[in-house]
Amino acid sequence: MSSKYKYLTWAVVVLLVLTFLKILPGTSSVIEAFELKSYDFRQSVSSEKHIVNDDVVVLAIDDASIDILNEKYGQWPWQRNSYVDIINFLEESKAKAIVFDLMFLPNASNTKYDQLLSDTISKYDNVFIAMNFDNRDNEVRLPQSIKAKMNMDKKLDLLSFSGCRPVLPQLLSGTPNIGIINVQRDSDGVLRRAPLFVKYNDDVYPSLAMKVFSFVNGVDEYSVDKDYVLTAGDKKIKLEKDGAVHLNWYKLRDDISGSFKHIPAWRVVKSLEAKKNNSKSFIPEDNFENKIVFVGVTATSQYDIKTTPISKNTAGIEFQTTTFLNLMENNIIHRTSFFINVLISLVLVLAVGFLILYFDSAIVSVVLSSVVILSFFATSVMLYVHQNIWTDIFFPVFAVIIIMIFMYLVKYMTKARDFDYTYKLATTDGLTGLYNHRYMQEQIAKNIASSRRYNTKFSLLLLDIDFFKKFNDTYGHQAGDAVLRYVSELLKKSIRSTDIAARYGGEELVIILTNTDKEEAYITAEKICKKIAAKKMRISEKQEVSVTVSIGVTTYPENGSNSEELIEYADKGLYYAKEHGRNQVGKIPDDSSVQ
Ligand code: GH3
Ligand code: MG
Ligand code: MG
Repeated sequence: MSSKYKYLTWAVVVLLVLTFLKILPGTSSVIEAFELKSYDFRQSVSSEKHIVNDDVVVLAIDDASIDILNEKYGQWPWQRNSYVDIINFLEESKAKAIVFDLMFLPNASNTKYDQLLSDTISKYDNVFIAMNFDNRDNEVRLPQSIKAKMNMDKKLDLLSFSGCRPVLPQLLSGTPNIGIINVQRDSDGVLRRAPLFVKYNDDVYPSLAMKVFSFVNGVDEYSVDKDYVLTAGDKKIKLEKDGAVHLNWYKLRDDISGSFKHIPAWRVVKSLEAKKNNSKSFIPEDNFENKIVFVGVTATSQYDIKTTPISKNTAGIEFQTTTFLNLMENNIIHRTSFFINVLISLVLVLAVGFLILYFDSAIVSVVLSSVVILSFFATSVMLYVHQNIWTDIFFPVFAVIIIMIFMYLVKYMTKARDFDYTYKLATTDGLTGLYNHRYMQEQIAKNIASSRRYNTKFSLLLLDIDFFKKFNDTYGHQAGDAVLRYVSELLKKSIRSTDIAARYGGEELVIILTNTDKEEAYITAEKICKKIAAKKMRISEKQEVSVTVSIGVTTYPENGSNSEELIEYADKGLYYAKEHGRNQVGKIPDDSSVQ
């Protein structure tokens, strides 16, 4: 069990390393790129459930309108009386607000209706126009009336600019209803966020959508508290640290690549003409009463095309309407903090970690882990669709997969180590650390087989400690054990790596000398015999002793064709050595005659 906790500790360490990697700029951008893809997936599921509110409509200057109305207003860009006509018509139709996602910049070749347009716009308090900041060196002083009155407890890290392309001077001084339309794309060029405020030379300006939202709600002052919550009148909106919000896109319509109702400008102009001529032949079918009308170019020939999570070619005006309606419905997406995402990852890692530890079968634990991951994925999608909460998916799943691989690796290595350990237990003798009797028998059999096959020889030494019974009686059994260990240690050091030292039983030891004939075996035996006799062995603080051994030698094939015959012959040699005074290698005189 304790080794299981060890895995988990390691799993947590790996998670911390991953967390660290997530903070590193290089890896974090890769992780973020995947995260954005998972976000887009959720957004496309979610947008199916969100349908736009008909209070917001788009008056679309589409390809057909440009074709049809060029006759009336001149080649695109139209003479600006076109917009005057549109404003007058919509005002008469009792539109709640008219929002131009168009910039009326000074244009030397097109000034004829500038004053008229400016007067018309300035006449109404519900007409809004757009302006854009940039970072070119064109600093312009802007009137106080278009700035945001903003109190910040915590400074927002706003998108900031140093340059400006001002609209007509008459408009700048004529209307406070100018909103900023700068956008903020993610690194992959997709529009997922909308800045609600932007900074220009130390002043804060509301975005166009924010400006219209404020108008509809009767708000003219804002405050931001320390949790980045924006208060606008009685509305509260949680902002990102940079004052932007994550948009929640609406279900796309079948007929256009947008979510809002688009009414082509030509139809409005035709209605207007019919009305003027008191003609009954044209009945206006579009009702603008009490609607917020966004006017923008959707003509593909004008290339104001943006990529959003749900579509690769959305008209720019959809960005404004979506931002506005998100604000009205308080329907923006909130991203969970880094801390929460690490916490989620930790819970997942622990869950999967336990599954891997608890179930020995890899298939069962992989299947259950997949269930955990899929449930997390499903929960994230549900949270997104129903609660507008964006939890990171990629990082936790990435962490879990890395940790699964890691834990299987550790598990596999531990198993291999356990196997080694068991194998060692089964083949070695506990007291001496030499191989045991069974292993020795296996090795003798192997050596016989290989010597027979390759026509080589091998020898075997049988050692027995002299007068060991008496030694035990004199010094005690524990001292006897210590001596056995000393002798075994010495044997291990005295043989080649291919030789095998084993405990035959009691105080009798065996050495298998591979590829060794009798003559060499005698030499080795003599060396060992002398070495042991010379070895001083400490059995207590005060006492040093020494023992001697007697050795019998046997060689395959001349002394036997199987294990029993070989050992029997070695035993004879050992007996001979004991008979002839011990502490020696027993050389049976008629050795060569024994076949
Ligand atoms: P010799 O071989 O020289 O004829 O005399 P010996 O006293 O060694 O005789 P024998 O081989 O018959 O006796 C073996 C003794 O070894 C018996 C037992 O007390 C001792 N012995 C066997 N195994 C162990 C062991 O694991 N630890 C200790 N301390 N003694 C052992
Ligand atoms: Mg013995
Ligand atoms: Mg003995």
